[in-house]
Amino acid sequence: AGGRFLKEILKRERDDFALRPRSLDEFVGQERLKRNLKVFISASLLRKEPLDHVLFYGPPGLGKTTLAFIIAEELGREIRCFSGPTFSRAGDIASVLTSIGEGDVVFIDEIHRLPRPCEEVLYTAMEDFAIDVLVGKGPGTRSIRLSLPPFTLVGATTRLSLVSAPLRNRFGITEKLDFYSQSELQEIIKNTATQFGMNLREEAVAEIASRSRGTPRIAKRLLRRVRDFADYYRKKEIDGSFVRKVFRALDVDELGLSWADRNLLRVLKEKFGGGPTGLNSLATAMNEDVLTLENFYEPYLIKLGFLARTARGRVLTSQGEQYLQRFDQNG
Ligand code: ADP
Repeated sequence: AGGRFLKEILKRERDDFALRPRSLDEFVGQERLKRNLKVFISASLLRKEPLDHVLFYGPPGLGKTTLAFIIAEELGREIRCFSGPTFSRAGDIASVLTSIGEGDVVFIDEIHRLPRPCEEVLYTAMEDFAIDVLVGKGPGTRSIRLSLPPFTLVGATTRLSLVSAPLRNRFGITEKLDFYSQSELQEIIKNTATQFGMNLREEAVAEIASRSRGTPRIAKRLLRRVRDFADYYRKKEIDGSFVRKVFRALDVDELGLSWADRNLLRVLKEKFGGGPTGLNSLATAMNEDVLTLENFYEPYLIKLGFLARTARGRVLTSQGEQYLQRFDQNG
């Protein structure tokens, strides 16, 4: 049974992998970024030089990892994937870099969480395609330089401000990912629905898109839940009213907000008089961890204009207050 379970998980991951756009042309949205990347990738192919290092930043689920895979695909190179916190010693990163092929893409997600000694190895690796290793013991210790095959580092972070300046400066290309528009999300949902073999009416697509918090990962997740309900109720043609029922069951409102988002706004209003209050006190009062608050809840509430980040702390805006009132009135 354990084996079946594992197979199921692997199948699902492949499923998800198969659903990712594979080329820049298939990737919906982020138009300016795509246009620039196309130029940089084509130029590097023409010159037969590795693509300059790329840093992507922006909220989770907007396509940073997907773009790293697309870059490798468009360059016709292998990609090796890592996450900042998985490295602990300088040697960890050195052993990765000494085992890559020429022109390969090394992807490091959450690069702001890379420990300092690992980061320092990256400096010379990125700049000179070399690393310095210490050999020998005691007074005889010396440093020798090992050269690396040229490679492209693609870093991703949700927190650009936490990436140290020396690391940030070594990326030749730095691009921000923005939240997606309603029509871009609709296109993503339609494509995915086709891959799922679902029959979604236009209105249903719009209802899902408007609840996706500007985020393709959430659009796809919501679509999967709609598919679950549709399969369970043997619903062949999915319309707007069916989708609205699903979202009531899931506690996702018209803006894509759920209990946890409203709780943040409520705590801010009721316990802190609308703020300003520090992120840590807010997290403690909500019994949430700071990172979840900062990465997941805040960016979209800020985009909606319900929450503001000020120098003195988080503030509930009047729009946020009106939203809470509207919600309470409509039950
Ligand atoms: P991030 O690395 O920014 O957290 P991912 O690249 O992992 O985000 O994307 C999350 C999910 O959303 C993936 O399933 C991916 O296929 C999908 N996705 C992201 N951007 C797009 C896009 N522009 N078009 C289609 N699907 C997308």
